Amino acid sequence: MAYMALYRKWRPDNFANLVGQDHVSHTLANAIKSGRIGHAYLFSGPRGTGKTSTAKILAKALNCEKGPTTEPCNECPACQRINSGNSMDVFEIDAASNRGIDEIRDLRETVKFAPVNGRFKVYIIDEVHMLTTEAFNALLKTLEEPPEHVVFIMATTEVHKVPATIQSRCQRYDFKRITVDDILVRLKTVVNDMGIKAEDEALRMIAVKAEGGMRDALSLLDQCIALSDQSLTMERVQQLLGLVGKEWLDKLVDALQTKNTSDVLSMVNELIASGKDLQQVLGELGMHFRGLMIFKAAGLVDGVDYYTPESENIKKQAAGFTQEQIVWIIRRIHEAVGEMKWSPQPRIAVEAALLEICQWESAQKGNFASDGASANNQEKSVDDGRIAQLEAKLAKVMGMLRNGATVSAANKPAGGRPAGAPSKAQTIQPMARPVAVNVTEDGMALWQQTLAELKNTGKNQVLACIQNCTFMGMNDTQFIIGTPPGVIKGLIERVYRKNVEEAFGAVSGLSLQMVCQEMAARPEPKPPVENIQEDVPPPTDDDFGISELDDVEKQRLDTAMEVFGDGLVHPEDLPE
Ligand SMILES: [Zn+2]
Repeated sequence: MAYMALYRKWRPDNFANLVGQDHVSHTLANAIKSGRIGHAYLFSGPRGTGKTSTAKILAKALNCEKGPTTEPCNECPACQRINSGNSMDVFEIDAASNRGIDEIRDLRETVKFAPVNGRFKVYIIDEVHMLTTEAFNALLKTLEEPPEHVVFIMATTEVHKVPATIQSRCQRYDFKRITVDDILVRLKTVVNDMGIKAEDEALRMIAVKAEGGMRDALSLLDQCIALSDQSLTMERVQQLLGLVGKEWLDKLVDALQTKNTSDVLSMVNELIASGKDLQQVLGELGMHFRGLMIFKAAGLVDGVDYYTPESENIKKQAAGFTQEQIVWIIRRIHEAVGEMKWSPQPRIAVEAALLEICQWESAQKGNFASDGASANNQEKSVDDGRIAQLEAKLAKVMGMLRNGATVSAANKPAGGRPAGAPSKAQTIQPMARPVAVNVTEDGMALWQQTLAELKNTGKNQVLACIQNCTFMGMNDTQFIIGTPPGVIKGLIERVYRKNVEEAFGAVSGLSLQMVCQEMAARPEPKPPVENIQEDVPPPTDDDFGISELDDVEKQRLDTAMEVFGDGLVHPEDLPE
């Protein structure tokens, strides 16, 4: 006999086998017992939670030769025909592939006829939210006057897309995600039946990864069994599913709590070396902290993560953070997920996030490595040691970012700039809307002094970060710096703001706010201040081809400049 996928083989064939949806099976069984069968049911819930299986069980319960019964026999011809999909009375329509009006018109024609063998004609419409508006309207007409012998069962993962007019004519059942424990019980039954040895931890890992879907859990188990010998270990499952796993997460949380930055970085290294997907890593880390958050808030585990409420680890880890910290960390992890998508080197986004998490207090106050009075000198020297360590790592990270950014800028196709257009190699276009500022020689000099001030006061890691930036000018309240693309902007704004503002204040005597603007591409190094005039002559009308315009065109340009301001930018220099 051909191999049958586990999720097919173990598809629940009666209400008793339906895992984790007791509220649904009880209500349906009661309806069958009392003979109050509805004409239309709407099953909603996440994928793999048993909606279609329940629809088929209900169809059998209604048409079993020994029924209607809450326990279809699965042996009579009616049950068998339904199980094999050959029943003349049970129709399965996949709305994802048959979205149209034609299928529903056919349906409207056929509903009129009495069932061929059984008691009821059952129409199962899967992914019903995918139907077109016309199809919904046609379906509604049938639902308004359903023939006695017809039952509609509609299943959907997105119930909000089902029109209210349809919903109001259905009995609605919400299918829940299945808990890890419920899935675990089922997986154990399956491996026992197959005579396969499996570690509990290995099965739990599969159950967690399935995110509440039994079908996914069984498919994952199928894959893992196919790629293992006769036994399933946690290590093997972790490897097969590409998970970082509980042990790594526990170790990382320890390192974050003890602010051991070098451990954190080497753990990231280890993962990358073993070929793990960093998105996945952040996903697991986010879920882990979610587990801690829920445990901290309510003293319970949610049933979708690795831990049991008795786990010593979760107690210890939750005790080591405040609720505020955990929420902030989750937010920071989410940010890193976003940053990774466009970072030239995704690992930097992960490293920067984790380092920031290590320095939670400072990152919160925008006061990284500030010389704020620390009551305890011994504590301070320990902090200094960690900061020195962090400085070294950060400098390395920044160096990598610099290389990555340069590579991506160099990869841009060489533009066919028309002759006579100004060379704008040094022109930097900020991504954000520019603030009205002046770039003066004084301003440039102040910036150079600010860098020197940072150096003189030993703020080396601030300097390592900030010297990749470009001074873009100042006004009465703000000074603006352009940051290279990547995570640097966030780092400077959150962690180094106070240091930079203080240094700028020290050299200028002004109390200005720092504004960061991210650059579209990394700028060329700035020429020394005194050479700016020679290197970049101010663009003339000729550079923009204005002198070639006729009077009408010139007038239009004047009007445009009145409206938008007179900053002319060559089209090729616009941000992408
Ligand atoms: Zn039967």
